[in-house]
Amino acid sequence: MTTLASEGRRRAVETASNRTPRVFTDANTKASELFGTNTFDQKAMSERLPKDVYRSLVKTVHGGHRLDQGIATVVAHAVKEWALEKGATHYCHWFQPNTGATAEKHDAFLTTGDDGEPIERFDASQLIQGEPDASSFPSGGLRATFEARGYTAWDPSSPIFVMDSPNGKTLCLPSVFVSYHGQALDKKTPLLRSDEYLARQAQAVLALFGEPGARVFSTLGPEQEYFLIDEAFYVLRPDLMATGRTLIGAKGAKGQELEDQYFGSIKPRILAFMQEVEHELFKLGVPMKTRHNEVAPAQFEAAPVFESVSVAADHNQITMEIMRRVAERHHFALLLHEKPFGGVNGSGKHNNWSLATSDGENLLNPGATPEKNLRFLVFLMATLKAVHRHQGALRAAIASSGNDHRLGANEAPPAIISAFIGEALTRILDQIESGKVKGATSESQVMNLGVSKLPDVARDNTDRNRTSPFAFTGNKFEFRAVGSSHSSATPMATLNAAVGEALEEMAKRLKKAINASDDFDAAVMQVIREYVVETKAIRFEGNGYSDEWRVEAAERGLLNLAKTPEALKQLVAPATKKLFTKTGVYRPDELESRYHLELERYIKDLEIEVAAMDELVLGFVLPAAYKHQGQLASSIEAVMDVLDSDEDEELLAPQLDELRAAARLIAELKQRLAAMRAAMVATHGKEPEAVARALADKVVPALDAVRDVCDRVEAEVDDALWPLPKYREMLFVV
Ligand code: ADP
Ligand code: MG
Repeated sequence: MTTLASEGRRRAVETASNRTPRVFTDANTKASELFGTNTFDQKAMSERLPKDVYRSLVKTVHGGHRLDQGIATVVAHAVKEWALEKGATHYCHWFQPNTGATAEKHDAFLTTGDDGEPIERFDASQLIQGEPDASSFPSGGLRATFEARGYTAWDPSSPIFVMDSPNGKTLCLPSVFVSYHGQALDKKTPLLRSDEYLARQAQAVLALFGEPGARVFSTLGPEQEYFLIDEAFYVLRPDLMATGRTLIGAKGAKGQELEDQYFGSIKPRILAFMQEVEHELFKLGVPMKTRHNEVAPAQFEAAPVFESVSVAADHNQITMEIMRRVAERHHFALLLHEKPFGGVNGSGKHNNWSLATSDGENLLNPGATPEKNLRFLVFLMATLKAVHRHQGALRAAIASSGNDHRLGANEAPPAIISAFIGEALTRILDQIESGKVKGATSESQVMNLGVSKLPDVARDNTDRNRTSPFAFTGNKFEFRAVGSSHSSATPMATLNAAVGEALEEMAKRLKKAINASDDFDAAVMQVIREYVVETKAIRFEGNGYSDEWRVEAAERGLLNLAKTPEALKQLVAPATKKLFTKTGVYRPDELESRYHLELERYIKDLEIEVAAMDELVLGFVLPAAYKHQGQLASSIEAVMDVLDSDEDEELLAPQLDELRAAARLIAELKQRLAAMRAAMVATHGKEPEAVARALADKVVPALDAVRDVCDRVEAEVDDALWPLPKYREMLFVV
């Protein structure tokens, strides 16, 4: 007997449904006892370092001060002792090259001492600097291969950690990655630069309010969405393995229509995974807070408590990595792609962002007093100004082939960047705009506006708008358009740079107004009013999914950059160049290289998708279609041998139609496959920009057209002929 094509699937279903939740050792340790045990945190530092060294290091970590080279030897020794006690055998500079993933090159502590005896060594220079052979990292042309050696430098602002693995442990030193000419070759360096710049500008504004001194930093709490499917299905899907998404797949009878997954009770196997992820992350000092089911079947979300932007960005990278590792232990495949499945929601990473001071204040939190609210309005308006002026750069920061499937697909924020602030704040800004404040005395002015009641109204965010890419949610903004697989570093560096620039300009205008007036509040209010008017176009409270919004946005002069190639182009637009050069976040050559790099990435993504589609059609879909056609033909033939009257002919007509339809489907598939290949071939030999354009305009639609026939084939053929795990299996069998 021949095996059925569906045999692999059947076995996968059996395997997946027979699995039980994985139990891990240590599951009952209290989180507070576990927390940070694998990090060289403040507690470890204070215990292991001389007081003066400790104080100097804390200043570096929290105060944005440079590392005092004089203490490096002592710190390196303490770090080594700590790591060896933890059982580490190797150390690595852990960094974030422009691939968007993390990179690490391990070196053993083990060396031979002067007397030839083996010893563990780790000195200051090894702590501070590393030299990975970086010639294979994408640099977008910044670094010719002959001078391939960039170097990594320890970034003391992010905690050192020890990473567990089954057969040993590794000391990881969070690092930046730069070329010998000082060009950033990673995602972290621009983020650190942006935070420093933003801090300076915010401090200058605070000084105008008579609050100098406090250090300012941006905060980030990224909500991470992801899918989990059983690995038995994953390995049977070449498309998922090659591209991270299903390139074909008929939508099953049930998707997310009933909305029975969202916030639903978490299945035991999934919960076991989440618990182990949290356990691992707690050890690494990542403050995971919430976990729940998301809208699509097999989709989930995890969110930490927010931290300073650079630490949170590192922690999010660690989170994605730990999720991947733990998923393997639980026999799941973790899907971080923005759109792993057609017909159900894709995944994003909601970047909650705000500005905090070292005194523990949130600058986007409306205060209890009129003065605090004035200050709040200043920071709010600067943010709106930043988003308005740099919509293009922000859109570019979240551009990727994966995110193209999400943005504008009526399930995620549209590709048009706008800001939502809620009804109550809108009313207040409208009142400010209408000039009701002019002439009145300051305190009462503010009171009359209801500004003193801002905390209540702003926090009442029941009118949350899920369709907005950038939404104010009471005391922070939520940048929702970031893709689930993206590093937070680039979007946050862009936002920080833009807000920093707006604050710099704001400070100038405020100073001028304050100097020209004897009423501080009225002067500030006047500037706020100007900003309300200037940034009006970026505010949108309506339905971002509607067609009317597209029309209105165009009338308002907002950018609508639907696809990656046009979005990336914004990286080299004059306004973006000016922003990044002025703020020092990217040097012109770095920006140029980032453009080429992202473009290259987009091109590669699609080349892989096209190749994977080819493979699917030839290896799986066409064979199934042929068998289907053959079955129909033989069945009709057999029946015709027996029944051959005129009456019978009529009876068999629908079956013949079905056979013809099957043949037509094959013809259509072949024709569309040829069209896709031709579209791909037409891109050859062109410049990257033209290739990307052609991919977006011609190849992506051709790919979709092939998918459409494949999905019809899947729906038509005998289930026993279909080799690839179906949506209903991947999404529902756990
Ligand atoms: P929701 O899904 O309702 O938007 P979550 O609780 O899932 O909210 O996530 C909100 C995220 O916002 C959390 O990571 C939280 O720590 C973060 N957050 C809260 N306040 C701030 C802030 N001031 N700055 C940055 N992030 C914040
Ligand atoms: Mg959430």
